[in-house]
Amino acid sequence: MSREQIPQSYYEIIEACAGPGCPFCRLVEQIGDRFLDACLHGTVTDPDIRFKYRESIGFCNRHAWRLPGSGGGRRLGIAIIYQDFIKQVTRKLEKARYNASGGASLGRLQESLNRKKPTGATQSLVRSLEPQKPCPACVQEKELETLAMTTLVDFLPNDERLREAFQASDGLCLPHLRRALELVRNETAFEILIEDARQKMGKLIEELDEFIRKHDHRFQDESFAAEGDSWQRALARIAGMPAPLPGKSRQKKQL
Ligand SMILES: [Zn+2]
Ligand SMILES: [Zn+2]
Repeated sequence: MSREQIPQSYYEIIEACAGPGCPFCRLVEQIGDRFLDACLHGTVTDPDIRFKYRESIGFCNRHAWRLPGSGGGRRLGIAIIYQDFIKQVTRKLEKARYNASGGASLGRLQESLNRKKPTGATQSLVRSLEPQKPCPACVQEKELETLAMTTLVDFLPNDERLREAFQASDGLCLPHLRRALELVRNETAFEILIEDARQKMGKLIEELDEFIRKHDHRFQDESFAAEGDSWQRALARIAGMPAPLPGKSRQKKQL
Protein backbone atom coordinates (compact mmCIF):
# COMPACT_ATOMS: atom_id res chain seq x y z
CA MET A 1 0.00 0.00 0.00
CA SER A 2 1.38 3.41 -0.97
CA ARG A 3 1.91 6.11 1.62
CA GLU A 4 -1.00 8.14 0.19
CA GLN A 5 -3.41 5.32 0.96
CA ILE A 6 -2.42 5.08 4.62
CA PRO A 7 -5.06 6.88 6.68
CA GLN A 8 -4.09 9.33 9.41
CA SER A 9 -5.64 7.00 12.00
CA TYR A 10 -2.95 4.38 11.17
CA TYR A 11 -0.27 6.61 12.72
CA GLU A 12 -2.53 7.61 15.58
CA ILE A 13 -3.16 3.95 16.45
CA ILE A 14 0.59 3.20 16.48
CA GLU A 15 1.21 6.20 18.75
CA ALA A 16 -1.66 5.25 21.08
CA CYS A 17 -0.35 1.66 21.32
CA ALA A 18 2.80 3.01 23.03
CA GLY A 19 0.79 4.44 25.95
CA PRO A 20 -0.66 2.64 28.98
CA GLY A 21 -4.03 0.87 28.90
CA CYS A 22 -6.40 0.41 25.97
CA PRO A 23 -5.02 2.27 22.90
CA PHE A 24 -8.53 2.96 21.62
CA CYS A 25 -9.68 4.52 24.88
CA ARG A 26 -6.74 6.93 24.52
CA LEU A 27 -7.42 7.54 20.84
CA VAL A 28 -11.07 8.36 21.53
CA GLU A 29 -10.03 10.73 24.32
CA GLN A 30 -7.72 12.57 21.88
CA ILE A 31 -10.49 12.79 19.27
CA GLY A 32 -12.81 14.33 21.86
CA ASP A 33 -10.17 16.80 23.06
CA ARG A 34 -9.33 17.89 19.51
CA PHE A 35 -13.03 18.45 18.80
CA LEU A 36 -13.46 20.53 21.97
CA ASP A 37 -10.37 22.57 21.03
CA ALA A 38 -11.88 23.31 17.64
CA CYS A 39 -15.25 24.19 19.22
CA LEU A 40 -13.77 26.67 21.63
CA HIS A 41 -11.35 28.12 19.11
CA GLY A 42 -12.90 31.33 17.92
CA THR A 43 -15.81 31.49 20.40
CA VAL A 44 -14.57 34.89 21.54
CA THR A 45 -14.34 36.38 18.04
CA ASP A 46 -17.32 34.46 16.65
CA PRO A 47 -19.90 34.03 19.43
CA ASP A 48 -22.47 32.67 16.94
CA ILE A 49 -20.79 29.28 17.28
CA ARG A 50 -22.88 28.82 20.43
CA PHE A 51 -26.04 28.46 18.28
CA LYS A 52 -24.59 25.24 16.88
CA TYR A 53 -24.72 23.60 20.29
CA ARG A 54 -28.11 24.84 21.47
CA GLU A 55 -30.00 21.67 20.56
CA SER A 56 -27.65 19.52 22.62
CA ILE A 57 -27.51 22.19 25.39
CA GLY A 58 -23.74 22.07 25.17
CA PHE A 59 -21.82 18.92 25.96
CA CYS A 60 -22.34 15.81 28.12
CA ASN A 61 -20.91 15.75 31.64
CA ARG A 62 -17.64 14.06 30.56
CA HIS A 63 -16.94 16.48 27.73
CA ALA A 64 -18.12 19.57 29.60
CA TRP A 65 -15.48 18.90 32.24
CA ARG A 66 -12.79 18.34 29.58
CA LEU A 67 -13.50 21.82 28.15
CA PRO A 68 -11.31 23.84 30.57
CA GLY A 69 -8.19 21.89 29.48
CA SER A 70 -4.98 22.61 31.32
CA GLY A 71 -4.45 26.37 31.02
CA GLY A 72 -6.78 29.27 31.72
CA GLY A 73 -7.12 30.24 28.04
CA ARG A 74 -10.53 28.65 27.54
CA ARG A 75 -12.37 30.33 30.40
CA LEU A 76 -13.75 33.21 28.34
CA GLY A 77 -14.97 30.91 25.56
CA ILE A 78 -16.71 28.68 28.14
CA ALA A 79 -18.30 31.71 29.81
CA ILE A 80 -19.65 32.95 26.46
CA ILE A 81 -21.20 29.71 25.24
CA TYR A 82 -22.42 28.46 28.63
CA GLN A 83 -24.04 31.81 29.44
CA ASP A 84 -26.09 31.26 26.30
CA PHE A 85 -27.23 27.79 27.46
CA ILE A 86 -28.17 29.19 30.86
CA LYS A 87 -30.23 31.93 29.18
CA GLN A 88 -31.85 29.26 26.99
CA VAL A 89 -32.88 27.24 30.10
CA THR A 90 -34.02 30.39 31.92
CA ARG A 91 -36.32 31.36 29.03
CA LYS A 92 -38.03 27.95 29.33
CA LEU A 93 -38.35 28.28 33.10
CA GLU A 94 -39.98 31.70 32.72
CA LYS A 95 -42.74 30.13 30.63
CA ALA A 96 -43.08 27.05 32.86
CA ARG A 97 -46.55 26.23 34.24
CA TYR A 98 -47.68 23.37 36.48
CA ASN A 99 -50.29 21.71 34.29
CA ALA A 100 -52.41 20.12 37.02
CA SER A 101 -55.48 19.66 34.81
CA GLY A 102 -53.51 17.84 32.11
CA GLY A 103 -54.28 14.18 31.40
CA ALA A 104 -57.37 12.05 31.98
CA SER A 105 -58.63 11.39 35.49
CA LEU A 106 -57.52 7.73 35.22
CA GLY A 107 -53.98 8.95 34.47
CA ARG A 108 -54.08 11.22 37.53
CA LEU A 109 -55.29 8.33 39.69
CA GLN A 110 -52.40 6.14 38.45
CA GLU A 111 -49.96 8.97 39.20
CA SER A 112 -51.16 9.26 42.78
CA LEU A 113 -50.80 5.49 43.27
CA ASN A 114 -47.36 5.22 41.71
CA ARG A 115 -44.95 7.93 42.88
CA LYS A 116 -42.15 6.57 40.68
CA LYS A 117 -44.13 7.40 37.52
CA PRO A 118 -43.31 10.87 36.12
CA THR A 119 -46.23 13.25 36.44
CA GLY A 120 -48.06 14.57 33.38
CA ALA A 121 -48.21 18.00 35.02
CA THR A 122 -44.56 18.76 34.19
CA GLN A 123 -44.04 16.36 31.28
CA SER A 124 -43.74 18.91 28.47
CA LEU A 125 -41.48 21.15 30.58
CA VAL A 126 -39.18 18.22 31.43
CA ARG A 127 -39.00 17.30 27.72
CA SER A 128 -38.17 20.87 26.73
CA LEU A 129 -35.29 20.86 29.24
CA GLU A 130 -33.80 17.72 27.72
CA PRO A 131 -31.14 17.97 24.97
CA GLN A 132 -32.79 17.48 21.57
CA LYS A 133 -29.53 16.19 20.09
CA PRO A 134 -26.70 14.09 21.57
CA CYS A 135 -23.44 15.68 22.74
CA PRO A 136 -21.57 16.75 19.54
CA ALA A 137 -18.20 15.63 20.97
CA CYS A 138 -19.65 12.14 21.66
CA VAL A 139 -20.97 11.98 18.08
CA GLN A 140 -17.56 12.96 16.68
CA GLU A 141 -15.80 10.40 18.92
CA LYS A 142 -18.10 7.59 17.75
CA GLU A 143 -17.62 8.42 14.06
CA LEU A 144 -13.84 8.68 14.19
CA GLU A 145 -13.56 5.69 16.54
CA THR A 146 -15.33 3.56 13.91
CA LEU A 147 -12.96 4.84 11.20
CA ALA A 148 -9.88 4.10 13.33
CA MET A 149 -11.19 0.66 14.33
CA THR A 150 -11.76 -0.14 10.66
CA THR A 151 -8.13 0.86 9.97
CA LEU A 152 -6.95 -1.46 12.78
CA VAL A 153 -8.89 -4.53 11.62
CA ASP A 154 -7.98 -3.90 7.95
CA PHE A 155 -4.24 -3.43 8.54
CA LEU A 156 -3.71 -6.10 11.25
CA PRO A 157 -3.35 -9.11 8.91
CA ASN A 158 -0.76 -7.67 6.50
CA ASP A 159 0.94 -4.72 8.14
CA GLU A 160 3.78 -5.85 10.39
CA ARG A 161 4.44 -2.40 11.91
CA LEU A 162 0.85 -1.95 13.09
CA ARG A 163 0.56 -5.57 14.23
CA GLU A 164 3.73 -5.34 16.32
CA ALA A 165 2.66 -2.03 17.87
CA PHE A 166 -0.75 -3.53 18.69
CA GLN A 167 0.72 -6.70 20.19
CA ALA A 168 3.16 -4.66 22.30
CA SER A 169 0.30 -2.49 23.63
CA ASP A 170 -1.66 -3.22 26.81
CA GLY A 171 -4.50 -4.48 24.57
CA LEU A 172 -8.10 -3.51 23.96
CA CYS A 173 -10.60 -3.08 26.78
CA LEU A 174 -13.74 -5.23 26.53
CA PRO A 175 -15.93 -2.47 24.97
CA HIS A 176 -13.28 -1.82 22.28
CA LEU A 177 -12.67 -5.54 21.72
CA ARG A 178 -16.42 -5.90 21.08
CA ARG A 179 -16.29 -2.98 18.60
CA ALA A 180 -13.29 -4.54 16.80
CA LEU A 181 -15.13 -7.88 16.57
CA GLU A 182 -18.16 -6.12 15.12
CA LEU A 183 -16.08 -4.52 12.36
CA VAL A 184 -13.59 -7.31 11.51
CA ARG A 185 -14.09 -8.75 8.00
CA ASN A 186 -11.05 -11.03 7.83
CA GLU A 187 -10.37 -14.30 9.64
CA THR A 188 -6.65 -13.61 10.18
CA ALA A 189 -7.43 -10.25 11.82
CA PHE A 190 -10.07 -12.02 13.91
CA GLU A 191 -7.53 -14.64 15.09
CA ILE A 192 -4.97 -11.91 15.97
CA LEU A 193 -7.57 -10.01 18.02
CA ILE A 194 -8.75 -13.11 19.90
CA GLU A 195 -5.24 -14.45 20.58
CA ASP A 196 -4.01 -11.05 21.79
CA ALA A 197 -6.99 -10.63 24.14
CA ARG A 198 -6.66 -14.19 25.48
CA GLN A 199 -2.94 -13.81 26.15
CA LYS A 200 -3.23 -10.43 27.89
CA MET A 201 -6.26 -11.43 29.94
CA GLY A 202 -4.54 -14.69 30.89
CA LYS A 203 -1.56 -12.74 32.22
CA LEU A 204 -3.88 -10.40 34.11
CA ILE A 205 -5.66 -13.35 35.74
CA GLU A 206 -2.27 -14.61 36.99
CA GLU A 207 -1.38 -11.16 38.37
CA LEU A 208 -4.76 -10.92 40.11
CA ASP A 209 -4.16 -14.38 41.63
CA GLU A 210 -0.83 -13.13 42.97
CA PHE A 211 -2.41 -9.88 44.27
CA ILE A 212 -5.15 -11.85 46.05
CA ARG A 213 -2.62 -14.38 47.44
CA LYS A 214 -0.49 -11.61 48.99
CA HIS A 215 -3.52 -10.40 50.92
CA ASP A 216 -3.54 -13.68 52.84
CA HIS A 217 -2.16 -12.95 56.32
CA ARG A 218 0.33 -15.82 55.94
CA PHE A 219 2.07 -13.91 53.11
CA GLN A 220 1.66 -10.37 54.38
CA ASP A 221 5.43 -9.84 54.63
CA GLU A 222 5.76 -10.10 50.86
CA SER A 223 5.71 -6.74 49.08
CA PHE A 224 3.78 -6.10 45.88
CA ALA A 225 5.49 -6.09 42.48
CA ALA A 226 3.93 -5.53 39.04
CA GLU A 227 0.66 -7.09 40.26
CA GLY A 228 0.17 -4.21 42.74
CA ASP A 229 -2.14 -2.31 40.39
CA SER A 230 -3.69 -5.39 38.75
CA TRP A 231 -7.04 -4.58 40.37
CA GLN A 232 -7.05 -1.21 38.54
CA ARG A 233 -6.07 -2.81 35.27
CA ALA A 234 -8.87 -5.36 35.74
CA LEU A 235 -11.39 -2.49 36.10
CA ALA A 236 -9.99 -0.78 32.98
CA ARG A 237 -9.92 -4.04 31.00
CA ILE A 238 -13.61 -4.74 31.60
CA ALA A 239 -15.10 -1.23 31.83
CA GLY A 240 -12.69 0.80 29.64
CA MET A 241 -10.24 3.42 30.87
CA PRO A 242 -11.36 6.19 33.21
CA ALA A 243 -11.41 9.73 31.83
CA PRO A 244 -8.28 11.53 33.16
CA LEU A 245 -8.72 14.76 35.06
CA PRO A 246 -8.79 17.89 32.87
CA GLY A 247 -5.29 18.89 31.84
CA LYS A 248 -3.76 15.58 32.93
CA SER A 249 -2.18 13.43 30.25
CA ARG A 250 -1.42 9.76 30.64
CA GLN A 251 2.15 8.60 31.02
CA LYS A 252 3.40 5.20 29.98
CA LYS A 253 3.88 3.23 33.15
CA GLN A 254 7.42 2.01 33.73
CA LEU A 255 7.32 -1.63 34.78
ZN1 LIG B 1 -10.91 0.93 25.30
ZN1 LIG C 1 -19.95 13.90 25.13
